Amino acid sequence: MRAARLYAPHDVRIDDIPTPEAGPGEVLVRVRAVSICPSDWRLYEDGHASGVVPDHPMIQGHEFSGDVAALGSGVSGPPVGTPVAVEPTWACGECDLCREGLPNLCRHIIFPSFPQRDGALAEYIACPADAVSPLPPDTSYGVGALIEPLGVGLHAVRLAELRATDHLVFLGAGAIGMCTLLVARAKGARDLTVVEPLCERRDWPARLGCKVVASYEELGKQGIEGDVVFECSGENTAVEQAMRVTRPGGKIMVVGIPHPDVVSFDSTIPRRCELTLLFSRRSRHALEESLHLLATGQVDLAALPTRNYTLDQTQEALDATAARPGDMLRAIVTP
Ligand SMILES: [Zn+2]
Ligand SMILES: [Zn+2]
Repeated sequence: MRAARLYAPHDVRIDDIPTPEAGPGEVLVRVRAVSICPSDWRLYEDGHASGVVPDHPMIQGHEFSGDVAALGSGVSGPPVGTPVAVEPTWACGECDLCREGLPNLCRHIIFPSFPQRDGALAEYIACPADAVSPLPPDTSYGVGALIEPLGVGLHAVRLAELRATDHLVFLGAGAIGMCTLLVARAKGARDLTVVEPLCERRDWPARLGCKVVASYEELGKQGIEGDVVFECSGENTAVEQAMRVTRPGGKIMVVGIPHPDVVSFDSTIPRRCELTLLFSRRSRHALEESLHLLATGQVDLAALPTRNYTLDQTQEALDATAARPGDMLRAIVTP
């Protein structure tokens, strides 16, 4: 099969490699769409993920959809040919955290596209059968690839334990910010403010009836505070900015992955205001509810702007992710 493999920073090559087989308990997926996550770009840029360096030319990509191509032994479905979405957090099911119902924190977690496990930027990938679920009818593969970021938003909203009266502030209207916001709206939140410096990205939340401003300083000028602030920008300085716009006694949910990893902030703010700082890790048991939100029209992922690339253009798709053009929330590669 053809696969896009990362050899070194900014060095992606299209290789012919053996097609994987569906092992026991696995489903072989013919990949049809891969959404490029900023975390893919970071590995491509830095050559490591939180210090872990790939030990082989690795295949990236963990936000994907495709068709069932084959079933391994012991697997009864979905039938071959079924379009599916895939939850890419593969837990052992046996450690103490899995037994407590926290598979996203599994001590032996496998995440395709985190070194050393190959991801989905290839024609085929073998996945655990319980990580695969049929897409709703008439769902495009591109939208199917966005089910994973939707699950990230769903997990963050669940962990934040929102109250009906909460005023929510979102820092960043990229794909993760928009997915988190869409879930919060679907759950009944109506008082929403978005901070987004990129002019073109302000349209999407504005169309949904959100108040949208260009910087967190503007929130201060307008006297706007969030009961819950979702940090979705991945900007290193945004954690302190989030603290500055959170109401005393409020919460900050860090959904974005700060880059660089080390974050510092003035501790006076969270201490005096008794703020709660929460972190979410990918998603947990989110696949079925994400598909339900999509199937019932409670969230419309098709409205999010994407750009399509072929597998040969994978490097372009990664570069576009870094450039963050305002009219594209995600680059979608079609292997
Ligand atoms: Zn991702
Ligand atoms: Zn486990």
